[in-house]
Amino acid sequence: MTDELTRLDRAHHLHPFTDFKALGEEGSRIIVHAEGVYIHDSEGRRLLDAMAGLWCVNLGYGREELITAATEQLRELPYYNNFFKSTHAPAVKLAAKLSEIAPAHMNHVFFTGSGSEANDTMLRMARRYWALKGKPEKQWIIARENAYHGSTVAGMSLGGMAPMHEQGGPLVPGITHVRQPYWFGEGRFGEGPLNDAADPSAQAFGRDCAAAIEARILELGEDKVAAFIAEPVQGAGGAIIPPESYWPAVKAVLAKYDILLVVDEVICGFGRLGAWFGSMHYDLAPDLMPIAKGLSSGYLPIGGVLVGDRVADTLIEEGGEFFHGFTYSGHPVCAAVALKNLEILQDERVIERVREDLGPYLASRWATLAEHPIVGEARSLGLIGALELVADKAGRARFDKSLAAGNLCRDICIERGLVMRSVGDTMIISPPLVITHAQIDAMVDLARDALDETARRLS
Ligand code: PLP
Repeated sequence: MTDELTRLDRAHHLHPFTDFKALGEEGSRIIVHAEGVYIHDSEGRRLLDAMAGLWCVNLGYGREELITAATEQLRELPYYNNFFKSTHAPAVKLAAKLSEIAPAHMNHVFFTGSGSEANDTMLRMARRYWALKGKPEKQWIIARENAYHGSTVAGMSLGGMAPMHEQGGPLVPGITHVRQPYWFGEGRFGEGPLNDAADPSAQAFGRDCAAAIEARILELGEDKVAAFIAEPVQGAGGAIIPPESYWPAVKAVLAKYDILLVVDEVICGFGRLGAWFGSMHYDLAPDLMPIAKGLSSGYLPIGGVLVGDRVADTLIEEGGEFFHGFTYSGHPVCAAVALKNLEILQDERVIERVREDLGPYLASRWATLAEHPIVGEARSLGLIGALELVADKAGRARFDKSLAAGNLCRDICIERGLVMRSVGDTMIISPPLVITHAQIDAMVDLARDALDETARRLS
C-alpha cells in the first residue's frame, strides 16, 4: 500500500511549501492514523507530534465529541451558505460563542475558510473602514519582515518572507514591512535572556522595534496608514517572543496616530499562550483579529475575522453591502465542529491548564536544553517554544548555512520519533494543548537526543 501511495503521490501530487522535484526523489512520509499527541506513519512508526499538525490540533487527535459533532451536522444539514439573508444554527451559535470568549469590545465575526482568507478579508475591511470614515487615502498596511500571514496573494504580500515575494508577484500594493522584535536573530544572544524584563538591552531593543513602526508611519504620512498587522508571538517566522517592552510601545505608537491594530491570532488564538487569545496575554485591544487553525483544532477548515466594535459599527451603520464572501464562509459542519471544540476547551479548562500548569512546566523543562552545546537559546511561552542552534555558543556563531543544521536536526528528530519543525536553524515546537507532563518529559528527552546526534554528525 505504501509503495502504491508513494508512486501515485510522486506522479500526481504537488505538495504545499515543497520542492516538487526533490520530494519526487525522496518520497513523502505517509501519515495513516493519530491519537492524542501521537501520529502514526505507514511504516508503523509512532511520532510525538510536537507541532500539533501545523500549529492547529489544539485538543489533540481523535476527540470523539468532534467526530460526533461533524457527523450529526452532516446528516442534519451538510451545506448551506450565509449569503443573501440566509444562515443556519452552527454559524450563528459559533459567532455568539466567539463574541463571548473574545476581548469585550469584539462582538462580531466574519467567517472564512482559512487563515489566508481571513487576512484577505481583514485587509479589505481595514481599508473600507477608513474609506467610510472619509479618509480613503488611509490605505497603507504596515506589517513585519519575516512575518507569515498566509499564501493567498494578499496573505503573502502582508507576510514579510522574501522567498515568497519572489514567486508569482506582483504583490498587493500599499503594504510595507518593518523590522521584527527578534532579539536572537539580531545576533544579540548571550547579552542576557530575552524574556528577562529587567534586561535593559533587550527591553531597549523592543522599544526600538516599536520606534521603527513610528518612523515608517512618519515616512508614509500618518494620514496614509490604515493598519499595523502582527502576531502576538511570531509563529512560522521562528516562534519569536518579543521583549516585554515591545507591545506596550507598539500600542502607544498606533494610538498616537490613530492606526488600526490587526492581531493575527491564527496560531496564538485558542489557548496557545495560556489565554483565549494572544491579545489577552499581552493586553492588546485589536480592531481586527484574523483566526483559524485552533478554532476547530484543525479537524475541519474554518477561519474568520473577529471585528472590534469601532470597525463593526462603521461597517454595519455606514457600509451598505460588503461585496465579499466565500462559498464556505461559516460552513455548517466546520462551524459545528468549531463550536464543540470551543466548548471542550472551556469545559475542560484546557486554557487555564496551559497558563497555570503546562506552560510553566514546559518552560522549566525546555530551559534545560539551553545548556546543550549547540543551543544558543531555548525560549518558550505557553505551549510554543524554540531552540536556536549555534556552532559556537561562546563566540555567538551560527552554523554555516550550507550545513542546513536545522533540517538535519528535524530529520534526526523524526528518526527518533519526534516531529519538530525547523525554520532555518531555529527548531520549533507547538504541541497539542492536552499534552501531559510525562509527554513533555518525553519530548524534551527526544529533543536532547536529537541535538546530541546533530552535534555528532556536524562535528
Ligand atoms: N496567519 C498566520 C499567523 C499563520 O501562521 C498562517 C498559517 O500558518 C496563516 C495566517 C494562514 O492560514 P491558512 O494556512 O489557514 O491559510
